Amino acid sequence: MLRKVLYPGSFDPPTLGHLDIIERASRLGERLVVGIGINSEKSGWFSVEERLEMLRACTAHLPNVEIAAFEGLLIHFAQQKGCSVMVRGMRAVTDFDYEFRIAMANRTLAPEIETVFLLARDEYSFLASSIVREVARLGGDVTAFVPPAVAESIARRTV
Ligand code: ADP
Repeated sequence: MLRKVLYPGSFDPPTLGHLDIIERASRLGERLVVGIGINSEKSGWFSVEERLEMLRACTAHLPNVEIAAFEGLLIHFAQQKGCSVMVRGMRAVTDFDYEFRIAMANRTLAPEIETVFLLARDEYSFLASSIVREVARLGGDVTAFVPPAVAESIARRTV
């Protein structure tokens, strides 16, 4: 059976922590779908199109990875894409409560879809998109936090 894995998130912007999870998750199945969740109530820092482009650029070396955006319920998107496993990253115990509640709700809604947690690498365990946005807004160097394609997009938008 072809196993398809879904890694959902906001990716606003994608960080080296996200890319590490993408690379590791791409080895868990034949295909990995990275799903950008569109929140219609909140406009992001980067547009969904820009996030799609950045993620495509920094995953170009991974032939079994596809980038897509979705609106609505996560499990509906997983079912539509034929994904039987969802991957989430876990940085520290502070992520646990939020991730636990989402995973339990999703399990109630779609028991056939398994949520799997990958532990963040030590060096990225503090790293979040919100930190990258804050550093960039204040004129700091983000190259230690994001893939080169993302650093270029950030440099373009802050000049
Ligand atoms: P969301 O808004 O859905 O939490 P994010 O883009 O912030 O979306 O994160 C997507 C997933 O990636 C979440 O499971 C989050 O815990 C995980 N993640 C975020 N940053 C890192 C990181 N530095 N290392 C590992 N996992 C991470």
